[in-house]
Amino acid sequence: MSLQLQVDASLKPFNSFGVEVLASLFAEAHNDSDVREALQYSVDQQVPLLVIGGGSNLLLTGDVHALVLRMASRGIRVLEDDGERVVVEAEAGEVWHAFVLWTLAQGISGLENLSLIPGTVGAAPMQNIGAYGVEIKDVFAGLTALDRQTGELRDFTLAHCLFGYRDSVFKQQPGRWLILRVRFALSRVARLHLEYGPVRQRLTEQGIEQPTASDVSRAISSIRSEKLPDPAVLGNAGSFFKNPLVSAVLAAELKRTHPELIGYPQADGQVKLAAGWLIEAAGWKGFRELDAGVHRFQSLVLVNHGSATGLQLLDLAQRIQADIKQRFAVQLEMEPNVY
Ligand code: FAD
Ligand code: NAP
Repeated sequence: MSLQLQVDASLKPFNSFGVEVLASLFAEAHNDSDVREALQYSVDQQVPLLVIGGGSNLLLTGDVHALVLRMASRGIRVLEDDGERVVVEAEAGEVWHAFVLWTLAQGISGLENLSLIPGTVGAAPMQNIGAYGVEIKDVFAGLTALDRQTGELRDFTLAHCLFGYRDSVFKQQPGRWLILRVRFALSRVARLHLEYGPVRQRLTEQGIEQPTASDVSRAISSIRSEKLPDPAVLGNAGSFFKNPLVSAVLAAELKRTHPELIGYPQADGQVKLAAGWLIEAAGWKGFRELDAGVHRFQSLVLVNHGSATGLQLLDLAQRIQADIKQRFAVQLEMEPNVY
């Protein structure tokens, strides 16, 4: 067996909340053969298998009685390049932001708005990661996953992935698909998306009128570093709740009673409400009980001030959900994967 199994391994370094729990077994997969070995082991020994990447979208509520397999496969390759359209493939264990920087260094654009998102390439399709008006579905060219039920490889096209807002077929069928590598259709001709939030303003402040994709990446990285807590300093999993999509009727009703409510009309007639606004309006911003809290400046981000347990964080999240439901008749959905 080439897979190195560790018994009773601490997962604290492998979840961005910094929650202290143990995995009964832990291993890293550096290639497809490690992945197959882990899968075989889990079938033979009847141990559940939990695949993780950077652990930046996880809430671990107790010791994990499973073989936790951390994807650590590396490799980036250009599959097609006609001078304009470039298809790039990256292994699941590649660090997302390092991959984004690699593409930009090659003069390839398309991922710049997704700069500085923590985690791995393999986890990115799980919730169709998105930021500043771009989601990976916009640049997706395909992926290869292992079907854990049959052991067969399957290539997914865009249509197969059922990407939605922070959603995909991989999220809807938990534990079925193990993503091995992902392909992106990028470009040597930058088509920049600057219309979202403070991006254009930040570039203007820097005196950049004709930005390159790398300029956009740097601007977004600087905005993110100012706004979001660094998990290495303060444990968190980014936005803890999705922005809820509600009917136009409910949005209009809420706007009557709360004129400052922030909502973005969607193409399908629904309205996306800013969950952070709802949580702040309900008074949770900066709330802290023991070491579980809501960030002082970002009400969408739950934080671990030191030794919060996953259950304490989950309890806080559920209390916020109940309060928002009662005050605004809006059901908030958690974004991280809870185990
Ligand atoms: P993990 O947390 O390790 O895993 C997440 C889920 O994917 C788990 O269910 C796991 O089982 C599964 N999984 C992981 N790898 C694989 C694989 N290879 N095959 C199959 N399943 C797999 N998200 C956004 O969308 N936009 C943002 O702007 C954003 N900003 C963030 C900022 C901060 C500070 C933090 C902490 C998080 C942020 N996130 C954001 C959330 C998170 O970074 C992303 O969801 C990221 O893609 C998670 O990657 P990961 O490797 O850490 O996944
Ligand atoms: P922000 O710019 O302060 O905006 C607050 C919310 O309003 C965002 O969640 C965003 O929704 C929405 N929004 C803002 N401008 C919009 C527009 N022009 N059209 C439609 N919706 C708009 O948000 P932020 O917290 O600083 O985050 C900036 C970006 O990074 C956002 O895209 C956010 O999703 C992403 N981010 C995600 C996470 C995560 O863990 N998932 C963590 C940090 C940041 P959307 O979220 O739908 O874009």
